Amino acid sequence: VTQHTHAIGLDVGGTKIAAVLVNESGVVLDEERVATPHVEGSAPGVAIADVLADTVTALCSRHDLDVVETPVGIGLPGLVRRDGSLAFAPNLQTASGANFPALLLERCGSRHVHMENDGNAAAVAEHAWGAGQGRRDFAMITLGTGIGGGLIANGELIRGRNGFGGEVGHMIVEARGIRCNCGKQGCWERYASGSGLGLLTTRAANEGRLPELVLACGGPDRVRAEDVTTAAAEGSAEAKAVLGELAWWIALGLSNLVELFDIGTFVISGGLASAAGELLPVATAEMASMIMAAETYQSLEVVPSTLGAHTGALGAALVAMQRSA
Ligand SMILES: [Zn+2]
Repeated sequence: VTQHTHAIGLDVGGTKIAAVLVNESGVVLDEERVATPHVEGSAPGVAIADVLADTVTALCSRHDLDVVETPVGIGLPGLVRRDGSLAFAPNLQTASGANFPALLLERCGSRHVHMENDGNAAAVAEHAWGAGQGRRDFAMITLGTGIGGGLIANGELIRGRNGFGGEVGHMIVEARGIRCNCGKQGCWERYASGSGLGLLTTRAANEGRLPELVLACGGPDRVRAEDVTTAAAEGSAEAKAVLGELAWWIALGLSNLVELFDIGTFVISGGLASAAGELLPVATAEMASMIMAAETYQSLEVVPSTLGAHTGALGAALVAMQRSA
């Protein structure tokens, strides 16, 4: 049995790829960040695999590690099968169907390549090294442009029959609601994410609920989500009201997850959680009003991630270390 003391984690997003080299304790020894290539017309994932192979090779050579034996984990925004292939990625169409373990073996000789959904990888990282430490029932929720998630129940990641478990962003929260990139209507990530805030902002501006911002920005369709978070931080009551709506949508999804899994702790990451200061406390209060007999639950916590921007890449590295052992 080979003891793996290091692993590389690659977090592939729609715009950038974050890479880390970590040791067994989750200490980041090196990192890289590159733009995600979007090349149409070739086999799925080929352009991305080229970048990943170069990154793995560079990190290994800088630290004198054997590229063939060093475990590599890849976190991806989509449905990752238990056998390691990417079945469907609504926000990363050029990689849908890619088999990255085969592509990396071909390019740089890596023998231990493991794939996991990015939200699941983040959940594993927070469980081992972050805000989920010591918690047996918690959910990782990533509020970005969309919503990613991973569920830990009884101390174990819920992977499900195919490996697709934890796709919380695509729970339908509005019957016949707005069209989602995944093809359905009314998904949670259309309302409770960064793009959801954009939608709520446009609606509020056009309904006359953001008069000061409409005036400042030069028209209802020119007010952006960032204008609302900035104005709210400066004390604007009309901006805070829109963030309150966002908190309501966030709470709606969280309360459903509490009812299904009796989750004790939500760990929230993503740009939105840090940009909007009072969002999490307001969402926590709203959530209690949406749960049956909420007062009978032991403390329901909604806390920020403690691993920050590295969460997904760290989780991918940890998954690789565990599954290569
Ligand atoms: Zn969807």
